Amino acid sequence: MIRAIIFDLDNCLSAADEVGRGLLEPVFDAIRWTNKGKLSDEALAQAFEACWRHPLDWVAREYGFSDEMLAAGWEVAARTEVEAPMQGYPDLGALAELPAMLFLVTSGFRRLQDSKIKALQFASLFEAIYVDAIDEADRKGKEGLFNEILKTYHLSPEEVLIVGDNPDSEIEAGNRLGMPTVQILRAGVPRGNNAAHYIHSLAELRALIK
Ligand SMILES: [Mg+2]
Repeated sequence: MIRAIIFDLDNCLSAADEVGRGLLEPVFDAIRWTNKGKLSDEALAQAFEACWRHPLDWVAREYGFSDEMLAAGWEVAARTEVEAPMQGYPDLGALAELPAMLFLVTSGFRRLQDSKIKALQFASLFEAIYVDAIDEADRKGKEGLFNEILKTYHLSPEEVLIVGDNPDSEIEAGNRLGMPTVQILRAGVPRGNNAAHYIHSLAELRALIK
């Protein structure tokens, strides 16, 4: 029986670019200025596109940023925050109807993730919210935080459903811990091959946990 559901934030409950793609433009500018011909314009464009779906350190590794490029982008990203209100995806109303404890576990820069959670005004829906801050020391990672939830709330892995968009992040971490996993295929999210279930809308969750 499912007693708890752990949600990812970006591209799961709200689109990473909901407030507009201008949000990360200063980060991309800083990376462009330090590129110095290392990556082609085309490779840079692909890397920036990936920034909407993956953490900056992952993108830097995957696309071969120089240390200077990563440092320049990092410095700006760490100061970036959302100031406008956010709505999230239109199906968020389904969350309040779910007969389980709800948790939010999100990875990213502390200031940006905190600002999005505030802009969404939905903290009261969750039993607890955890930011896996990539710019803070002693990072636990998603797997570490999932484990912490198991211990704190006396849950066993099979009682906790993981819902997210990223096969390499929350889906992999959930699988490793023996938790049932659900990949939510929001617009632009490619289907992975490692989740136990696939959905397109949060409205489909209720049937899954019965
Ligand atoms: Mg995500």
